[in-house]
Amino acid sequence: MTAGQIQRDGRLHKIEFGSERIDCFVRFGQRNRLRISVHPDLRVTVDAPAGKSLEDVLARVKRRAGWIVKQRTFFKQFMPRLPEKRYVSGETFYYLGRQYRLKVVQNSGGSVKLIGRFIWVHTPNRHERRIVKRLVQRWYREHAVAAFERRLDICHETAKRYGISRPLIRLRRMTRRWGSSNGRKVILLNTELVKAPIHCIDYVIMHEMCHLKITDHSRGFYRLLSLCMSDWERRKARLEQFGF
Ligand SMILES: [Zn+2]
Repeated sequence: MTAGQIQRDGRLHKIEFGSERIDCFVRFGQRNRLRISVHPDLRVTVDAPAGKSLEDVLARVKRRAGWIVKQRTFFKQFMPRLPEKRYVSGETFYYLGRQYRLKVVQNSGGSVKLIGRFIWVHTPNRHERRIVKRLVQRWYREHAVAAFERRLDICHETAKRYGISRPLIRLRRMTRRWGSSNGRKVILLNTELVKAPIHCIDYVIMHEMCHLKITDHSRGFYRLLSLCMSDWERRKARLEQFGF
């Protein structure tokens, strides 16, 4: 968590609800009513009137805990589903939406190559899964950088017509989202996205690029996104049902 996020979201408080623990960010301000929001990345924020005591606020949140858990369950279905991999021969891996099989071969090298429908891993010890994992992840990362830059160039050809300047890309392995933007010049993409079909990668890039102009998910944002990519909803649905 960054200092900026703490400032924006308020102070963190933890609430127990059955076996669930709810982290919520409480922010006091000039407002009449208390508002609890559950965000698509599962964050819970509470905007409270300045005069209210923290105790009262947390009691209110606790009373709404059932609703909060339900909202989070709803949003969870749209998150990346990334099962644990074992990094052994025969296992399926995706790259740009296509399925490949892992072949782990023992020899002195430490390399990864995509040949035909196979991802060949050469490793000094094929039973050392940690090393295989590191090699495969590094391969994905290198290919993700190249693929995302290529797709960004193509997507930006359209986006620039709407006054969006070309952002920089940063990669990160994220478990909760495909991408995010800081609202300035950088978009953050999940390295795992390189496993998805190209038209889904383009959707995430376009979505984050539109955030450079409009930071929230307002009507204006979706209007801009639809101008840049008329079939974004189809692509989004495809990404959500894509099994990694
Ligand atoms: Zn968004």
